[in-house]
Amino acid sequence: MPTHDLLDHFGRDCSALLGKRLWLFDMDGTIYEGERVFDGTLDLLARIRERGGRSVFITNNSSKNVGDYVAKVGRMGIEATPEDFFTSVEATARYLKEHHPGERVYVQGTRSLVSELARLGIDDTAEEDPTATVVLIGFDTELTTEKLRSTCRMLNHDVAYLGCNPDLVCPTEYGFEPDCGSMAIALRNATGKYPHFIGKPEPDMIDIVREKFGATAAETVVVGDRLYTDIASGRNAGVDTVCVLSGEATLDDLATTEFVPTWVIDDVREVWRLLG
Ligand SMILES: [Mg+2]
Repeated sequence: MPTHDLLDHFGRDCSALLGKRLWLFDMDGTIYEGERVFDGTLDLLARIRERGGRSVFITNNSSKNVGDYVAKVGRMGIEATPEDFFTSVEATARYLKEHHPGERVYVQGTRSLVSELARLGIDDTAEEDPTATVVLIGFDTELTTEKLRSTCRMLNHDVAYLGCNPDLVCPTEYGFEPDCGSMAIALRNATGKYPHFIGKPEPDMIDIVREKFGATAAETVVVGDRLYTDIASGRNAGVDTVCVLSGEATLDDLATTEFVPTWVIDDVREVWRLLG
């Protein structure tokens, strides 16, 4: 296919996609929705492999661990190993080790988050603990009012305060539910405190994966459906971005956003087609 045919939704030349080696995919809204894999996902992943490229799935979701994701995409026919994922939980563990080494961390999050952080070497607890010097919140799909009260009491202490991911909502099959970013706003209303967030749009997740696979910024592309996390993270990391229209971002959003993607492509099937 001649390169002059490689045009995005707005007719912009996207032939530079042919030179990408490292493809960093958001998951929900980009390659699947809920439990339904999008038409074109398997073809696109296969084509990237055939072209000698590498796909990595990057997620802000801090309610699940990598094992959950390997099983989930496996049910959709995507053969993946833990190496194929990078989560905001891993990024958070790295951040804690660098900035709060050896400190005890109180976590408002799922049992999966608490155990995954422990596995990654963090001294964490889901119980109120006056010796904890860091409060961390994640996307807690097991949240109770008792946990919220514990977190408010913990935030009354002199503690560092972190959030795994700033997403306001999580897409579900019925609509949306409040994610970690919304919980941070609720806790700010109660305590006056607001966390430093770790996941996308901070560039760390992109930088770490790029270094791991030895890809330059020019060889890397981020594909996602959310402007203020996926696209912003790519921009902050200095890599090209593809916004797909199969999830959250709409053409109206794109007309007004400050997080302008390099390209807008309808969905993964169209990306697959463009890769010839
Ligand atoms: Mg998404």
